[in-house]
Amino acid sequence: MLKRFLLLALASLLVCSSIEAQTPWRKGEMQVLVPIGQPAINAFAYLVPGLGINTEPAGDFIRCYLTRDEAKLFSDAGIDFHTEIDDLNAWSASFGGRGVPSGYYTVEQLNGIADSLAFNFPDICTLHSLGTATGFYQLKAIKISDNSAIDENEAEVLFDGGIHGDEVGGPENMIRLARDLCLQYGSDPEITDLVDTREIWIYYCVNPYGRSNMTRYNGNGVDVNRDCGYMWNNEGNSPSAFSQSETKAYRKLLTENQFAIHCSYHSGTEYISYPWSYRADNSPDHAIHNYLASVYAVNSGYSGIPYGQGYTGMYAINGSTKDFGYGALGSISWSVEISADKQPPASQIGAYYLKNRPSMLKMVEYSGYGINGTITDSITGLPLPANIIIDDLFPLANDPVNGDYHKFLLPGNYTVKVISNGYETRTITGISITAMSSTEVNIALQPIENNRFARRIISCQIPNNNFNDEGNTPAAIGPPDDIRYSLGRNGYAIIDLGDTLTDGTGPEVIVYENDVTPEGYQLFAGQTMDGPWVMMGTGTGNAEFDLSAASLPSARYLKIKDDGDGQSQVADAGFDLDAIEGIIYLPPVDSTGFIAGTVYSAEFQTPVAGAAITCGTRFTVSDENGYFIIEADTGNVEICGEFPQMFMYDCDPVVVAPGDTLLHDLYLPVQEGISETTSDFGNLVVSPNPANDFASITANGLTGILDCEVYTLGGQIQQCHVSYHGSSILTINTSELTPGIYFIRILTNREASTLKLLIQR
Ligand SMILES: [Zn+2]
Repeated sequence: MLKRFLLLALASLLVCSSIEAQTPWRKGEMQVLVPIGQPAINAFAYLVPGLGINTEPAGDFIRCYLTRDEAKLFSDAGIDFHTEIDDLNAWSASFGGRGVPSGYYTVEQLNGIADSLAFNFPDICTLHSLGTATGFYQLKAIKISDNSAIDENEAEVLFDGGIHGDEVGGPENMIRLARDLCLQYGSDPEITDLVDTREIWIYYCVNPYGRSNMTRYNGNGVDVNRDCGYMWNNEGNSPSAFSQSETKAYRKLLTENQFAIHCSYHSGTEYISYPWSYRADNSPDHAIHNYLASVYAVNSGYSGIPYGQGYTGMYAINGSTKDFGYGALGSISWSVEISADKQPPASQIGAYYLKNRPSMLKMVEYSGYGINGTITDSITGLPLPANIIIDDLFPLANDPVNGDYHKFLLPGNYTVKVISNGYETRTITGISITAMSSTEVNIALQPIENNRFARRIISCQIPNNNFNDEGNTPAAIGPPDDIRYSLGRNGYAIIDLGDTLTDGTGPEVIVYENDVTPEGYQLFAGQTMDGPWVMMGTGTGNAEFDLSAASLPSARYLKIKDDGDGQSQVADAGFDLDAIEGIIYLPPVDSTGFIAGTVYSAEFQTPVAGAAITCGTRFTVSDENGYFIIEADTGNVEICGEFPQMFMYDCDPVVVAPGDTLLHDLYLPVQEGISETTSDFGNLVVSPNPANDFASITANGLTGILDCEVYTLGGQIQQCHVSYHGSSILTINTSELTPGIYFIRILTNREASTLKLLIQR
């Protein structure tokens, strides 16, 4: 029996561990095997998953990662375990500069192969940057398809590996699949057909820090496969949902495409594990997951690799990639555990790949079976963002670029309902699906003047889960329909409206509960999926909210949080969200819009706080996360960012639509030659540069200075006192200028020149 003090002691240990100096593994962490079936380990691993014991399945065992203090708690609780690796930090260090055991590819070698494939097969292979991971590693995904640079109306399938860096087989499988697809395109008929008719994404190393340091964690000591936002629950050292750069990159890849099938590769046992991982109930797509897992198993080289639901087949986790891919986005999403050993001898790498290769190709093939089509505007014919709801299966959002959708379905007759903000909902019945083919159902929607409703729940938490409620997140999507998602006691949901709301003359948001027992909640608005969240107010039952209460000019994302009243482990716990409506106020013609984004260093890809942003005559400063929003005139405008302390600046031309918030990130390169002091023809010299209160311009003897003006990078003229000393020297009083980079435009009788001047104090 597990004693209460034990849990409290363990919880306080986990809090303390986060402030220690960062090592690849936690200080003193060891890898142990615990036989399944001990009541105490069940209490740790199943009953209290929120406590964050890090576990990985291992056949008849559970592989656990324990600090010395946690191991003592296990011993004290009578849990029997066998130590596999006594000191994981010493073990990782033993691989030296390579990071991985000999015979396995390093991150640099994986990147080198990916680069060479994109270079040598440019028509069918492109590389896509997903940002920077902890440890400053670049995150890159490979896309392989005919016309690879274009998003075509083809089924998309995703394979990823290496989210746990010490599970070395995933990235090895990924890079070999990419290489085979490129090398055998045009000669192998099966591969040629699949590359021509599908879009195959291979995200070959999700956690490069982990691989380079032989740890399951990222550079912040977080288990990335517990940091995803759907039914997130504070496991694996994750401080908040989507808190890590690796998880944000993952979310970017999954939300910017529509993956019919998504396979994520792990090792430590042999198992195909599909949703749910956070709860024991079957998902609405259980039959589809189970059927496709059987296709994977039968076609593989394993003799009877088992498959099943993650929660019941392996163990309970929250915040996994598979629950996010399926729960938030409607992909058929699972993990494949490819080998009992996390680091099998390098001689077996090829064999494990060959066991999986036929099944991977089958998944590429099956991603294109079932139903497919495009959702368009019936008048313009242009693609629309929509939700496709097929019978009682989880909804999927179509591709945001092309409007196409693809979903695997078992043979039968189906009803398809399509909802899209600003359009009439359409329902089509009697759609017949046959095996090994795809039924094309293109749907054109009639525009109507309605408001905006939730497009998807991107993130949610029911603290410590509530298995007495069905967790029906899709109920909050679309207009009110008397079907509700219960937030759970103290739970929250982050909702993407799909469109940006702007502050108008009345309320901008209406929350609908529509039942007889109104409950309390707080509503927050944000301009990105990660906030910052600004409170719009509190409500009980149905209520209206105004953006101006949050002092926000616009918002696309809403966060609704239960007020914490009532019971947590009952049906319908917490606020019951039927729908959330955003009211669109048509902006007056010739109004302004907004530009929002993040300022990054072009060199390091890291956010820049305190950068000055100018657009026309308007000015703002990026916040501590590098985020900014600035009002802008509509039409063609130029937005500029500068960070003079690092000699960084850049300007981009953008087009701003009335009332819209254009998302545009700025990447500031370090400007070479900012301290140059002479003009193009060598006739003018500025000094000192950098300057403080005064700068002088000197012309050579033949040149007469006629005029001098000082501009900001954004083109705003600055009022400065200029004193002329004869015709060839002048002094600018710069004491009123804020530190930064300026342009000095000088007109002489021989040239018009622009010099850069840095003001530094
Ligand atoms: Zn794993």
